[in-house]
Amino acid sequence: MKKKVIVSACLLGECCRYDGKTKEIRSVIEALKEYEIIPFCPEAPLFGTPRERINVVEINGKNRIVTEETNKDVTQLLEDEIDAFVEKHPEADAIILKSKSPSCGHKTTAVLNEKKEIIFYGDGIATQIFKKKYKGISIQDENDFIK
Ligand code: SF4
Repeated sequence: MKKKVIVSACLLGECCRYDGKTKEIRSVIEALKEYEIIPFCPEAPLFGTPRERINVVEINGKNRIVTEETNKDVTQLLEDEIDAFVEKHPEADAIILKSKSPSCGHKTTAVLNEKKEIIFYGDGIATQIFKKKYKGISIQDENDFIK
């Protein structure tokens, strides 16, 4: 049986980014030939493509996900979507996510204050949930595959 890898769908060539584009990285796809690939994108099914940008914003000491223009808090929607994905895919051997994304970023996502200034770089909301649910599986991003 093949090992399973969860991969941000935009890295695989899906046009699911907020601007309607992809972020396909051939070296990621090439490296995963022996794996069963499980594509992951929590934002496109919820908000469509293209869509308003979202940001991680620290509010009262907690990271919230807020739409850039309309200031709508969509944290719960995303949590529910990601929890449903994890329930459907309880097992994984590897995880490769898109850097800098408010959902998928790993140590690279800009966390803003309420004035929209960057205060530090951390994890996106999916990465935070994956770290708890897929314990012991290291999380990589596309930069680990770009020489
Ligand atoms: S970074 Fe994550 S949420 Fe954003 S488009 Fe890619 S897969 Fe979807």
